[in-house]
Amino acid sequence: MHIAKTYPSNYIQEQGILRKTGEWIKKFGTTPFIVAGPTAWSKACAKVTESLHESALDYTLEYFEGHCSEEELQRILPKVPSHVDIIVGVGGGQCLDMAKLVATRLQLPVINVATLASTCAASAAQSILYTPDHVFVRVESFDHSPAAVLVDPDIIRNAPVRYLTAGIGDTIVKWYEAIPLNEGKYQNAMTKAGLKMAELVRDLLFEFSEQAIQDCEQGKTSESLRQVIDANILLSGLVGGLGRHTCASSGAHAIHYGMTVIPDMKGAFHGELVAYGLLCQFKLEGKSDQEIVDFMRFYQKINLPISLRDMGLTELREEELRLAAKKACAPERTIHNLQFEILEENVYQSIVDVHQLGESMKKNAALN
Ligand SMILES: [Zn+2]
Repeated sequence: MHIAKTYPSNYIQEQGILRKTGEWIKKFGTTPFIVAGPTAWSKACAKVTESLHESALDYTLEYFEGHCSEEELQRILPKVPSHVDIIVGVGGGQCLDMAKLVATRLQLPVINVATLASTCAASAAQSILYTPDHVFVRVESFDHSPAAVLVDPDIIRNAPVRYLTAGIGDTIVKWYEAIPLNEGKYQNAMTKAGLKMAELVRDLLFEFSEQAIQDCEQGKTSESLRQVIDANILLSGLVGGLGRHTCASSGAHAIHYGMTVIPDMKGAFHGELVAYGLLCQFKLEGKSDQEIVDFMRFYQKINLPISLRDMGLTELREEELRLAAKKACAPERTIHNLQFEILEENVYQSIVDVHQLGESMKKNAALN
């Protein structure tokens, strides 16, 4: 089977693009329902509402609360007036995932205004659902892609830089997760395209991430920042879109899903957990400590976590970590895309070993 999905239908990264929100909505609908994160809306509302007013568009607004969960979806759905014909998401990843779910249930088009570059949620034709307590539940894939994704790099730049960093974490893993699925196997044209995209994204992020983070901190909308935004929001999603099952997630995302059960790490971002999950995947794959330390050095330059402590865990409790490993190894998890036998014990050990390696690296740096 040769299948691919490319998305979104339109992607525009442009300073001031939010002033054209109304124009974009009118290409696909007449009566928008906006799902917005409260913080995102406070940043974007002046430009968005001005544009809607200019385009003579009436809208209904509902704030997105908490996490992207079935419960939140069921709370929002009844609030959508029957005459609405387009959904507009304004916010970060989970809010935009919710906007896509609402649009899918009502069979309406969706336009996403991304105010963070922390995941590819704005573009991807899928949503990740959690419990209201932010424990991973499932991924839902859609047959429709967002009609348009609008990104103002100035808004991304003004958000806390940690979101951009998390986005780099979520994106750089693509190559390392996809490669084990394809080693020694026949690759059709789409798989090759997906892998090339993953390689390109990896190289872009190695080249531009550090500068982009610095520029973001200094309030500069630089070319480096803009490259990273495109990689995180657009190109990242295209890897799995082109390669579908052959360029899918594997170890890093599965270990991330497992770690969402640890209460003390509830404050860690998706991309931070995924980035740490990749280090654990490296351990499982038998990479040397030196190779992992080299990768950690890159993480340190941009403030990605290299230990569990970096993600809020101050005390390691074996039963919690074992539960995380168990969840990561559930039969439906992508960790089984790795081409060797996966044992819970090894996954548990990899989570602990990476933590110890990261902590000792920090101690050695402090001594030198
Ligand atoms: Zn992800």
